[in-house]
Amino acid sequence: MRIFDPHIHMTSRTTDDYEAMHAAGVRALVEPAFWLGQPRTSVGSFLDYFDSLIGWEPFRAAQFGIRHHCTIALNPKEANDPRCTEVLQHLPRYLLKDGVVAVGEIGYDSMTPEEDEAFAAQLQLAVTHDLPALVHTPHRDKAAGVERTLAVVRESAIGPERVVVDHLNEVTVRQVIDSGCWMGFSIYPDTKMDERRMVAVLREFGTERILVNSAADWGRSDPLKTRKTGDAMLAAGFCDDDVDQVLWRNPVAFYGQSGKLEPADSGAPGADATYEGNSVLRGARAEV
Ligand SMILES: [Zn+2]
Repeated sequence: MRIFDPHIHMTSRTTDDYEAMHAAGVRALVEPAFWLGQPRTSVGSFLDYFDSLIGWEPFRAAQFGIRHHCTIALNPKEANDPRCTEVLQHLPRYLLKDGVVAVGEIGYDSMTPEEDEAFAAQLQLAVTHDLPALVHTPHRDKAAGVERTLAVVRESAIGPERVVVDHLNEVTVRQVIDSGCWMGFSIYPDTKMDERRMVAVLREFGTERILVNSAADWGRSDPLKTRKTGDAMLAAGFCDDDVDQVLWRNPVAFYGQSGKLEPADSGAPGADATYEGNSVLRGARAEV
């Protein structure tokens, strides 16, 4: 089983996690820029973090045979902090970098006017830089958050096929399915979706335009939830090709819209051999 985790915060994880992920089949991932848990007090703290997402963390992942990509943004929570918003002016130079495959995580936390402004501005940045967008939905008042998210996407210049609305569940997926946006699901040990509920969603809504991620971070989470979802799909009667679509081809199709995935991410024959045991991570760019 080959796995591309489309949303995981490896900065918060250990080398044991990288080893276990590789053993489980994870060969590529996307690490979205997000909140650190503790508030940042200056823009410099963002810039150091972004630099680690495009430098140190891909190097670390490569030691374990996993290709690392990231998304860059001002996250929704810190969009409310005047000490942080100046980082918006620094985003364009990061969005040009290899390995930055989307603008994200953007969207809503508490649905304030400041978040409205940062969300709309960053969707426009995605358009300008020809990148897809990863949109976080709030954990509180989720249905209203998703509704407002879709309204902002509709009013923006970005095409819905270039947007993933993340952290959905059985209820909110119904709001997103007709929007044309991709649907992201985070599988957690004890909150939000679990793998059994995810299989039920796939049964009901099919395997198109769906991304499954572990969203593992510094909280209680499990970087192997992608694999566990694949196993649960097989146990429920889905075939290998369905699992491959959800856990590999869908994230490749979505983030491939950046034009920045490497040939190996498309699953080309022999692609594994080009990077296994090789710490050189960034090869030529390729359209996937
Ligand atoms: Zn996240």
